[in-house]
Amino acid sequence: MIRTVVCKKDGCSGNEFYIVTEDNKLKLTCKDCGSVYYYDVSYYDFIMLSNCEKCNNDTFKVFSDVEKDGLYAKCTKCGCPPEKVFIDDEGTQVSYEVKLLNDIKQLMNQIDQRVCNLEMKVEGLEKGQELLEESLAYINKYMSE
Ligand SMILES: [Zn+2]
Ligand SMILES: [Zn+2]
Repeated sequence: MIRTVVCKKDGCSGNEFYIVTEDNKLKLTCKDCGSVYYYDVSYYDFIMLSNCEKCNNDTFKVFSDVEKDGLYAKCTKCGCPPEKVFIDDEGTQVSYEVKLLNDIKQLMNQIDQRVCNLEMKVEGLEKGQELLEESLAYINKYMSE
């Protein structure tokens, strides 16, 4: 279920916020009354910047997905998300393209690893087969003697 984040201050029901990311937390400041709210966003592998990625507007409507524990922001003017900066495994800020490339590299490595494991299993299977044949041959020889 997705809920619109609304300012909780008495007499204010503002639903437009300025957003700033501070120490893995998303700080929302109500545009109408200035109340501040913090949301934990440490599970995201990116940092939301304070401006719209498309029109540079700096106020957002914020939505929280109660089940998935996610937080989304949409520009009040054009509906686009805020600009993002991604963090790679070493903790450096990278562009989306670089992050995508890293993800693909990681995926390729995983596939490589799986193929390798598969090859080892097949090899093991072949050895088992050989052993079985040898045993059978031995038994046959023993029986016929
Ligand atoms: Zn407010
Ligand atoms: Zn916008």
